[in-house]
Formats: sequence, C-alpha cells, structure tokens
Amino acid sequence: MSISAILFLLVFAAAVWWFTRNVRKVRRNILLGRDLQRTDRPAERWALMTKVALGQSKMVVRPVAGLLHIVVYAGFIIINIEVLEIIIDGIFGTHRAFSFLGGLYSLLIGSFEILALLTWLACAIFLIRRFVLRIKRFWSREMTAWPRTDAGVILSIEILLMTAFLLMNAADHTLQSMGAEHYVQAGAFPVSAVLAGFFGFGTMDASTLIGIERFCWWFHIIGILGFLNYLPYSKHFHILLAFPNVWYSKLQPKTQMSDMPRMAAEVKSMVDPSIPPPPPPAEPEPGMPPEHFGAKDVFDLTWKSLMDAYTCTECGRCTSVCPANLTGKLLSPRKIVMDTRDRLEEVGRVIDKKGKWEDDGKDLFSRISEEELWACTTCNACTQACPVNIDPVEIILDMRRFLVMEQSKPSPSLNAMFTTIENNGAAWAFGPDKRMEWMKE
Ligand code: SF4
Ligand code: SF4
Repeated sequence: MSISAILFLLVFAAAVWWFTRNVRKVRRNILLGRDLQRTDRPAERWALMTKVALGQSKMVVRPVAGLLHIVVYAGFIIINIEVLEIIIDGIFGTHRAFSFLGGLYSLLIGSFEILALLTWLACAIFLIRRFVLRIKRFWSREMTAWPRTDAGVILSIEILLMTAFLLMNAADHTLQSMGAEHYVQAGAFPVSAVLAGFFGFGTMDASTLIGIERFCWWFHIIGILGFLNYLPYSKHFHILLAFPNVWYSKLQPKTQMSDMPRMAAEVKSMVDPSIPPPPPPAEPEPGMPPEHFGAKDVFDLTWKSLMDAYTCTECGRCTSVCPANLTGKLLSPRKIVMDTRDRLEEVGRVIDKKGKWEDDGKDLFSRISEEELWACTTCNACTQACPVNIDPVEIILDMRRFLVMEQSKPSPSLNAMFTTIENNGAAWAFGPDKRMEWMKE
C-alpha cells in the first residue's frame, strides 16, 4: 500500500471516528428529554418527510431563497456521490475508478460540474444577501456573533469545496489531453474546460498540473471530511436531522395543545371517584433532576423539542411571521429554539466533564425570560412557516406551565382570568346569571 493510501486511510478513519463520537453525544443529549410517542400513522409520516424534507415544499414559499437553497442542497447531495469515487481512489491508489461507466460517467461528471457551478453561485448570492444586503432576519437580536459567523463559515467552505472540485477537474482534463500517465481519458468537463483555458493550464508543464490536481484532490476530500465534522457544532446539522425531525412531526392540528397526562389523570380521578388516582411519579434516576410540572430545564422538555433545537437552521422564517415579534414584543420563536439548543449543549458539556449530570445552578429560564414566554399568542404561525417542522410553541407552553404550576407566576391577564373563573365560574367578569343578558340588547 502506498504512503499516500496509508495517509488517506488515517485521515479518513480519524474523521469518521470524531464525527461518530460527536453524533453519539448529540443523540445522548436529545435522549435527556421526556418520553413522547411519535410513531403513529407511519404512512402519513413517510409522505410528510418526502414532501417537506426531501421535496423542500416549505422552502419554496419564498421562491428566491427557496430555489437557491434547493440548488445548494442538490449540489451537496449529488456532488458528494462523487466522494465515493474519491474514497475508492484514495484507498486503492486508482484514478477515476468509475471511469469504466463510459458515457454514463461523462454524463455524471458533466452534471456534477454544472451543479458545482450553480452551488458556487448560490452560496455567493447567500453571502451577499447576508453580509452585503444585510437582510433583516439575519441581523436580529438573537443573531449574535457566532450564528452569523457560522453561516459565513459554512457558505465559504462550500464555495472553497466547489472551487477545488472544478480546479481539480480542470487540471485533470488538461493532463488527459496531454496523454499524461495515470490520467485516464474519462469524463466530460463543460465548466472546468473553460476554467482551464481561463487560468492558462494548457501552457503549464505536466508536473505543475499534477501538483495542482493533487492539491485540489486532497483539499476537496479533507474539506469534505472537515465539513462533516463541523456539522455537529453548527446549525448545518439540519442537513442530517431535517429528515427524522420532519418524520416525527406532530400530526394533530397545529393548535391542539398537548395535555399533561399525570394532571389529566388526577383531574379525572377528582371528578369521577370511580377512577383511581394515578400512581406517584417515579423516583428520578440517580443524578437526574426531579420531574417538574411543565419545563424548568431541558430535562423537562420532550426529546422531540430537543431534536427540534438541534434541527433549527436559524433561518428566522418563524420570527418573521410571529405577530408578537412583528408588533415589537420581546418574543422571537427562533431565539426560543436557539436558546434551548445552547442550554442543551451546556448541559451536555457538564455531563462530558463530570461523567454525569450535576446541577450547575442554571436552567432554561437563565436564557429565556417570562416576558418572552407570555408574549406568545399560540397562533402557530411559526410552526406553519418552519421549513423543517420545528415546534417552538411546545417549548413555550411547557415553560409557561412550569411558571403557573410550580412558581404560581401566571401572566397578569391570566391571573385576572383565574380570579373571574374562581369567582364567577366564567372567563369574563360577569356572573353566570348575566350570561344571557346580551340577548336582551
Ligand atoms: S405561536 Fe407564539 S411564537 Fe409562534 S408565531 Fe404565534 S405568537 Fe409567535
Ligand atoms: S425554528 Fe424553523 S423557521 Fe425558525 S429559525 Fe429554526 S428552522 Fe427557521
């Protein structure tokens, strides 16, 4: 085995190991959440995933961003098929291992090149929209330095990867036309042939071109492995999680609020004495916090809310349609989801460091204020707009429940309603005897 192949195998194995380690941590963090059954109506779930995650149906509601995103998405998925060939070449020391496909291979390489060019252009437009045109939803309060940098880094990496791919092909194409040893005649190069002419590759000697081709080949594959390992640290983890997240979507009507099974059982038993009260809650596992009514911390949210947090693309579509946000309230559903992820990662780091969970004196309320929570109208415009079916309202409701049931801190308007229900048996400030008075007017 050549030194180059050994080096390739080492880099590849290290990248796969590190990625697997980080994905296992993300999975562990998601499973810190409460249990939730979301496997009913599987046929409907597969159809939804095909339409929303694979078909990107909610992205194209905003046609410009939607179409650009589809190009980048298709570029990322399809061009990476080519990575399979790179891996085989890297391990076995071959060159263009799939060239035996003949005409089909030319068609594939030609299509990859066109997609690479379109992806390059789409990423450049995305960068301009974010950093030159400074579209408002990318510069709001929660888009602090890291989320902005993250978006810039990933778009720049994609541009560099596409550039390396095209330059590699440009050098390869020139070497093929020179009849250089090892460079088999294979592929079609509609874009890189133009680049080769533009950069004057035809005037360079074979050793310089081999140097360019090898450099771009290594840059391309190391870049892809680096990109893979960057994903778990980035909002771009949605590339992987969008599919399961949509599959596990809530299928009930959006505005149907989940109940609290233990509370529902207790109320039923109070109303109907023939129904026995539910058993007391199970003792928490050693080292884990006790069960709360509602959500104080990430442990009290469902695993789906935690998966939502890791799936958020930080696109801000939810916030841009949120009536509370649009009328100047503090609430931003995107911030709620981002804060949940940040807190979850914080909890994960404590577990990594101490080997188990130890209370760090913080919780979700260290990041999300009561003012934000009570500003929500539960209209669900945010869940409707989210391209990956994230449900920020579920987090908001669970945190509100904690405020009301454990802290006795309802919002002032809710407090007034509780009082009128207690005094008048109705949500309004009139007694039941006045209910029909409107008919007389
Ligand atoms: S449900 Fe709440 S957070 Fe979502 S859009 Fe409506 S007001 Fe905003
Ligand atoms: S919750 Fe959905 S709509 Fe809102 S920022 Fe995240 S991905 Fe975008």
